[in-house]
Amino acid sequence: MENSIKRIGFIGLGIMGRPMCLNLIRAGFSLTIYNRTPGRMKSVVAAGAHAATSPSNVAEMSDVVITMVTDSPDVKEVVLGSEGVIHGIGTGGIVIDMSTISPSVTREIAGHLDKRGVQFLDAPVSGGDSGAIAGTLAIMVGGDRQSYDRCRPIFEAMGKTITHVGGVGMGQTVKLCNQILVSVTNLAVCEAIEFAERAGVDPLVMVEATRNGAAGSWQLSNLGAKMVRNDFAPGFMIDLQQKDLRLALEAGCEMQLSLPALAMVHQLFLSCQAAGEGKEGTQALIKALRRLRQGKL
Ligand code: NAP
Repeated sequence: MENSIKRIGFIGLGIMGRPMCLNLIRAGFSLTIYNRTPGRMKSVVAAGAHAATSPSNVAEMSDVVITMVTDSPDVKEVVLGSEGVIHGIGTGGIVIDMSTISPSVTREIAGHLDKRGVQFLDAPVSGGDSGAIAGTLAIMVGGDRQSYDRCRPIFEAMGKTITHVGGVGMGQTVKLCNQILVSVTNLAVCEAIEFAERAGVDPLVMVEATRNGAAGSWQLSNLGAKMVRNDFAPGFMIDLQQKDLRLALEAGCEMQLSLPALAMVHQLFLSCQAAGEGKEGTQALIKALRRLRQGKL
């Protein structure tokens, strides 16, 4: 009995949260939801969820509460704020934050909950809205192992690759490692394409010739051709990527760890944002390099 969690609360029905909720309902969980903008709850209520009036109200009706909001201050507000989860959740409850936020703020929130006898797991995801819809997200979980084991069926309803990576904050840390890998590799793809173009090689031929060798990557295979074709429609928006890079750079500063390649990508993306390209996909990073060609566009 102790192990079977049935009542789940979910806060934050955005691009990611809504499909994750639908997968939890499909898996048979009883779901209570809250969204700051109430209209966004309609489709999930129609699928069988109960609507609550505040984060604390969600917590009163749940054994486990999941948050999927935007940034560190937002998670603090919905968990610790005046109408936060902390005021409604019972001793022995578990809070799971699946947003991408700061590892140190994560530990701070967990500390407040711990004083009330509430466990905390940080479980950020990778895989985008398509992964959220298909229930195939990669989920990186930090926190107490026993709580992780209890919550494993919840994660299985939303994701495919589920990894317990360490104590509280380590899920967010691994997510930021993921973002370092993704964005620095993106810059390498941009430079190789620029190099091929300048030297007179068809850049699409270069991508085909290299993508299955040691230089292969998701970025090369998926973003490379889009860059060449000037297809800048967003899979993942620059504005969202910048939030994650800022979190990684801040965490690096806290550890006195210099991240020169990441800082450079962050600055180049900043120039894209200044040029009004923040809502474009991250492959638009190549536009920053093209501007550096100084009039040779
Ligand atoms: P989104 O569509 O912008 O949704 C954000 C949700 O958070 C909305 O429901 C919003 O409520 C709520 N929210 C934000 N601040 C709040 C606050 N202070 N109080 C109460 N509710 C608040 O974002 P998303 O794309 O679903 O992303 C959610 C998280 O997942 C982010 O941390 C993001 O970095 C991460 N993530 C996103 C992707 C992706 O591809 N989109 C992939 C991996 C990870 P309203 O409806 O009232 O605005």
